[in-house]
Amino acid sequence: MGEAGKTVHSALLTYTSMISLLTLCPPFVMLLWYTMVHADGSVIQTYEHLKQHGLQGLKEVFPLPSSPTPWIIIGSFAAFEAVLQLVLPGKRFEGPISPAGNIPVYKANGLQAYAVTLITYISLWWFGIFDPAIVYDHLGEIFAALIVESFMFCIFLYIKGHVAPSSSDSGSSGNIIIDFYWGMELYPRIGKNFDIKVFTNCRFGMMSWAVLAVTYCIKQYEENGSVSDSMLVNTVLMLVYITKFFWWESGYWCTMDIAHDRAGFYICWGCLVWVPSIYTSPGMYLVNHPVNLGTPLALSILAAGLLCIYINYDCDRQRQEFRRTNGKCTIWGRAPSKIVATYKTEKGETKTSLLLTSGWWGLSRHFHYVPEISAAFFWTVPALFNHFLPYFYVIFLTILLFDRAKRDDDRCSSKYQKYWKLYCNKVRYRIIPGIY
Ligand code: NDP
Repeated sequence: MGEAGKTVHSALLTYTSMISLLTLCPPFVMLLWYTMVHADGSVIQTYEHLKQHGLQGLKEVFPLPSSPTPWIIIGSFAAFEAVLQLVLPGKRFEGPISPAGNIPVYKANGLQAYAVTLITYISLWWFGIFDPAIVYDHLGEIFAALIVESFMFCIFLYIKGHVAPSSSDSGSSGNIIIDFYWGMELYPRIGKNFDIKVFTNCRFGMMSWAVLAVTYCIKQYEENGSVSDSMLVNTVLMLVYITKFFWWESGYWCTMDIAHDRAGFYICWGCLVWVPSIYTSPGMYLVNHPVNLGTPLALSILAAGLLCIYINYDCDRQRQEFRRTNGKCTIWGRAPSKIVATYKTEKGETKTSLLLTSGWWGLSRHFHYVPEISAAFFWTVPALFNHFLPYFYVIFLTILLFDRAKRDDDRCSSKYQKYWKLYCNKVRYRIIPGIY
């Protein structure tokens, strides 16, 4: 195939994968929810249900959010989180310099918002004001409503990107599908202070993960009068992971999701719908499957999961500490080994950046994905191996991160050019040391 042929072929592949994600994700969310909650986690049972009950069966898998309950739940949660984002105090944080040369400024109040959210939610239950089991009982309608609302929100982002971009880090590719899918703006804001990506990714997406993890635990407790050790291990690991996320939230603002990916369907719809539905799915399954692991096994899984979360945190911490101190720190007790790389911004200015080549970042170029995937495995394995579906998230995450590692390598290669080649020669493996 000639160069022109290759370009057309890869453009077609990109379009095909974008359009399939746009159309296949929403039904998949509903099928997964139905199978976890009503079909014992068995894909075959869902298939039999659809075959036997035809249109009525389909209506049960895709419930219409016709009652006010799901809309009130989503609306109250979103409004609560938006208010916390705006009003809670937090230190000023400057994000990394953007491709157009801007420095976005944030208010770092994520941990406070996380603490207020969980304390409020558990207190509402404890004092009998609101029963979280209602959320679980309306989960299908909630996901259906979220799919619709988030789609409309992505249309809003697309229009805003065209008519009222918040900064010079925006623009159209000239193609409506690409603009809608990958987004138009890097840092869309409402007014000066309300950062939309902080809201969608952190305060709605990640926060809903924590709230749903607690919801599943409470639902199992209300159903059975106790919480199984498998559910406890799953919930504790997920909550530790999410606590780590909010503890380090300003670090997240320096990662690809925020600093490189524009606000479109891929990232925003993903955080608004995919995170609450798919990321929480192992816990969703455990509600009706209270496996009893026994203390030694439960504690072993817990310890392995905690270790993975710690290593993942330490990888991110090492990179950020190294960049923050301009390489004047110690990595595993020694002065870091590094590459001083120069690159050009979109405006043509020459800038310098440091690439760490020791510590975790010397093992492979994206070693942090290994403990990330392993931690997800350890909070899923309490479901044991009766069904494949609880492992969907781990498999999805593996594909996502392998693709992300490639995208990041490509981006860094075009940014740093010969310096990235030097890094690749020094640190040869992309993710798994010695293998890949
Ligand atoms: P990061 O943004 O943290 O790291 C990649 C960036 O770091 C590169 O784009 C480059 O940016 C810089 N960089 C690359 N190599 C080096 C180096 N050797 N030294 C210094 N800087 C370097 O990656 P991610 O956003 O993918 O991951 C952040 C965290 O989020 C991880 O813990 C990851 O596991 C987690 N994550 C979780 C997901 C989930 O769905 N559960 C999905 C994705 C990530 P620059 O242009 O600044 O040089």
